[in-house]
Amino acid sequence: MLLITGAAGFIGGNFVHHWFSHHDEPVVVLDKLTYAGNVRTIEPLLAPGRCELVRGDVGDRALVDRLLAEHRPRAILHFAAESHVDRSIHGPDAFIQTNVVGSFNLLEATRAYWGALAPGEAEAFRFLHVSTDEVYGSLAETDPAFSETTPYAPNSPYSASKAASDHLVRAYHHTYGLPTLTTNCSNNYGPYHFPEKLIPLMILNALDGKPLPVYGDGLNVRDWLYVRDHCEAIRQVLARGRVGEVYNVGGKNEIRNIDVVTTICRQLDALRPRASGRYEDLITYVKDRPGHDRRYAIDPSKIEREIGWQPTETFASGVEKTVRWYLDNGAWIDGIRTGAYRQWLETQYGKQ
Ligand code: NAD
Repeated sequence: MLLITGAAGFIGGNFVHHWFSHHDEPVVVLDKLTYAGNVRTIEPLLAPGRCELVRGDVGDRALVDRLLAEHRPRAILHFAAESHVDRSIHGPDAFIQTNVVGSFNLLEATRAYWGALAPGEAEAFRFLHVSTDEVYGSLAETDPAFSETTPYAPNSPYSASKAASDHLVRAYHHTYGLPTLTTNCSNNYGPYHFPEKLIPLMILNALDGKPLPVYGDGLNVRDWLYVRDHCEAIRQVLARGRVGEVYNVGGKNEIRNIDVVTTICRQLDALRPRASGRYEDLITYVKDRPGHDRRYAIDPSKIEREIGWQPTETFASGVEKTVRWYLDNGAWIDGIRTGAYRQWLETQYGKQ
């Protein structure tokens, strides 16, 4: 049994799909179902005793204690977070509450649970913390990519809150011996991505004929990884990662934002041409994000060497899959956009 936090979100949701394509071991999902959580992402998998969803907050100690006692997981995978950098600039409170205080609460509950396990179970137990490359700050054009020993230098409230949670996880291993694993991954893209993030936003705006807003000069560089490749990395680190270690996960796909947008436009030109003109005509440069990190790049050599993980998608193949998924999954998208999803949620899980 796995306890997975935040698995109604983008990466956690993809992870649960990926998990059941390889394993029968059941999972319990703890998710607050914030605006970013979508039950529909994992709905087809939900079944009593196999995949259960509990709506709740990782910061709720009594709830976490109850779930641990009831389900007795052999591992906890911690995806839950406030994850959108722009939102963290305008309202950092929720980021501190969930990413720092909530992670601390989960670690405290886990420490108590793990401390009471039989020796063999305690040794086999794992707490896997899912984090980001943004904790390392920004790179200049010629700097080497982030490695696991790059000093932390977070620049946004989001990355600072994730850095704090990474440090807590590290401390719980060093201080209490909790068997932790941490992954720091580059930018993900793929199915079930909430349409406030760059790639789904561009696809959906393009399809609606709306402007495609590109920050600043469009030359900020991100290292992109197809989400299922990230999920596979997490699955392998859970199975084979060395306790207390950190693994950087990246696709060696350093791409400028403007090139991300033009790649999407060209895919759309091929798959669903506009009535007149090309999608690239919709590109509009907008005022840069404050404190916008210039470049992120991950050196994944440790996970490749120690775990044997390699990404399977190139950026072009991953974007093609992603664009096709958004073209084929209008109901998932409409549910989020029309508010029908929110209404349905309230009837299923009550108002929060
Ligand atoms: P997301 O915003 O899509 O999903 C987050 C999920 O957590 C949602 O389902 C939300 O309802 C849930 N949640 C939020 N607050 C909660 C709380 N207090 N208690 C319980 N559940 C709560 O995020 P994502 O993009 O899927 O990211 C998942 C994890 O991966 C995060 O920890 C993020 O920092 C990390 N990460 C993301 C990326 C990326 O490119 N998206 C890259 C590297 C690492």
